[in-house]
Amino acid sequence: VVERLGAPLIEPIFEELAIIGVGLIGSSIARVARRRNAARRIVLADKSVGALERAKALGLGDVVTDDLARSVRGADCAILCVPVGANEAVGRVIAPALKPGAIVSDVGSVKGAVISVLQPILPGHARLVPAHPVAGTEQSGPDAGFASLFINRWTILTPPDGADEDAVEKVRGLWEAFGAHVEIMSAAHHDLVLAITSHVPHLIAYNIVGTADDLAEVTQSEVIKFSAGGFRDFTRIAASDPTMWRDVFLHNKDAVLEMLGRFNEDLTALQRMIRRSDGDGLFALFTRTRAIRLGIVAEGQETAQPDFGRRAAESGEPAS
Ligand code: NAP
Repeated sequence: VVERLGAPLIEPIFEELAIIGVGLIGSSIARVARRRNAARRIVLADKSVGALERAKALGLGDVVTDDLARSVRGADCAILCVPVGANEAVGRVIAPALKPGAIVSDVGSVKGAVISVLQPILPGHARLVPAHPVAGTEQSGPDAGFASLFINRWTILTPPDGADEDAVEKVRGLWEAFGAHVEIMSAAHHDLVLAITSHVPHLIAYNIVGTADDLAEVTQSEVIKFSAGGFRDFTRIAASDPTMWRDVFLHNKDAVLEMLGRFNEDLTALQRMIRRSDGDGLFALFTRTRAIRLGIVAEGQETAQPDFGRRAAESGEPAS
């Protein structure tokens, strides 16, 4: 278990790293890459003037620009850190400017759609290694990022068939330098796993807040005032960025609909247990689920901290 970020690397992994999209994830990568000397030069690009100004003020990169093509011109690795639906537009702009052999990666929460969009756009010489750091918060923008975000979290790489092995190893090394554990799987499997562990839970959180807000009998101020543990903890992720999550659901339709179908079947079974006063059935399910939930804590993927450890200090404290 990694406790904190190691010392700066003596030899950087990349000469020049371009990060496109300087939001929560992109700015966290910039911070940790700088801290670990993972790249000799860090170039940041974004379309948001506000994000670029903050990135400059925070000193997150050696170059900060709104010119996406220019940002990748000298890069041996470019990481797209924009909402999933923006990858195509970004890919089209950067493709002609990529250096021969440049690695192109991303951090999107959906992988199949990202590969099918980027693969045909990128030049044959570019080496695509999609990645998804399973780490984040419900906040956005350059100020929300922090260097320890990825410590002890998993990053999933989904190299397409025939991906360049050296490029995969370099991207693996980069994420390991950020303190992450790396796993490799197919994009289709990633999308199915994340549908149940991340996408459907977000949908349910958004939905329950919407339901509470639509109730005629309960006012919004009552919901906020009496949001005891259940509503408060359960709905933290309903504050997540609407653009990012719209794009996740539009680009992982099949897996999300499959998992929602299973969820609905199980919810119907639970409804029946309540209607039939089946206490044994409810108790058995809650006992089973409790053990699984406690396992998440035991695996170091959760802490007892009130902020879930997600705002780990810039001091390098673990974000577990
Ligand atoms: P974010 O904080 O909202 O930052 C995204 C940045 O990209 C914004 O500055 C945005 O500018 C910019 N952008 C959008 N479209 C662009 C374009 N066409 N060209 C250039 N820049 C563009 O988002 P984030 O939370 O870092 O998420 C980025 C990616 O990481 C997403 O694909 C998401 O699925 C993935 N991810 C997120 C999390 C998480 O917890 N947040 C975790 C793992 C992976 P505007 O604000 O002007 O749109």
